Amino acid sequence: MTRQEDRGGPRQPLLIAKDLKRHFPIRSGLLNRQTATVHAVDGVSFDVKKGEVLGIVGESGCGKSTTARLMIGLIELDDGQIIFDGDVLGEDITLKELRRGVQMVFQDSYASLNPRLTILDSVAFGPKINGLEDPEGKARNLLKRVGLEPDRFAHRYPHELSGGQRQRVNIARALAMEPRLVILDEAVSALDKSVEAQVLNLLNELREEFGLTYIFISHDLNVVRYISDRVLVMYLGEVVEVGPAEAIYHNQAHPYTSSLFAAMPSMDPDNRTEEPPLAGDPPNPINPPSGCRFHTRCKFAESVCSAAKPKLSVIGGDETHLAACHMMDPASGHSQSFREAAE
Ligand code: SF4
Repeated sequence: MTRQEDRGGPRQPLLIAKDLKRHFPIRSGLLNRQTATVHAVDGVSFDVKKGEVLGIVGESGCGKSTTARLMIGLIELDDGQIIFDGDVLGEDITLKELRRGVQMVFQDSYASLNPRLTILDSVAFGPKINGLEDPEGKARNLLKRVGLEPDRFAHRYPHELSGGQRQRVNIARALAMEPRLVILDEAVSALDKSVEAQVLNLLNELREEFGLTYIFISHDLNVVRYISDRVLVMYLGEVVEVGPAEAIYHNQAHPYTSSLFAAMPSMDPDNRTEEPPLAGDPPNPINPPSGCRFHTRCKFAESVCSAAKPKLSVIGGDETHLAACHMMDPASGHSQSFREAAE
């Protein structure tokens, strides 16, 4: 696979998202007037380094899929900046150029494919219209690489394949464009557990083989832990915590992250909680709570929490682990209320 020119060192950011914002207007009435605004993504910033896997987690409606679509221009930004390998989108590179370097795999493997195209044509389509060399040969090689023997599968249509096979086609189709970053948006969520494990292993192998970088979006914390180097936690359109996967899994700093992990179902009957760790649904993004958006569900909330928005701050002296909570104890990396509760 030919690679685009690589700027900077191997651990430099491949993509930087700066203060991304997207609000959706809600219109109603005969005159179709705007009556409300959904704050889907509100000032989200992060980076993903070359060769790493950044997991993005959060409840449904937290803005993780909208963030993914903003990164690839499927939804227009209201505000913010995307920088891809040093090039600013809209200044140094066009959306078309960005999409050559960033591909996306969606949850719905069937809707992602044209039902009238054979899978060979589906995989070869992108390279063909972008003038890449030997699109069919490339498609055959990639189908083989994702475990679909071209002699058996090349001329089948999407409805003749299982969900796992269709998702392999979608992965091959993404790789056919020779991307450097692949965004996987709930890409394994609809698969049976045994197929999910096979596709995750395939994704790990392809990352090594093609030198890829992934953004892996999922509501399944175990899957994110398996594949991610770093994890970013979103709540109601904002980032509340980001850090190395092991720190997020073993040493959560933000009360929302802790609640998410505590809500994970346990197979151990002695380890089941009577009380739900995270009560209620997330508030309506049309009218998000003031200050810390988690204050309406946080058992550690104090008056400052609804009055002022907490900033992401380094915790526990680890520059790579940040969380946004007023009660944070920077030394230990835990909220002060957590610490007091533990003492
Ligand atoms: Fe809870 Fe307050 Fe921290 Fe928000 S800032 S997570 S409400 S303690």
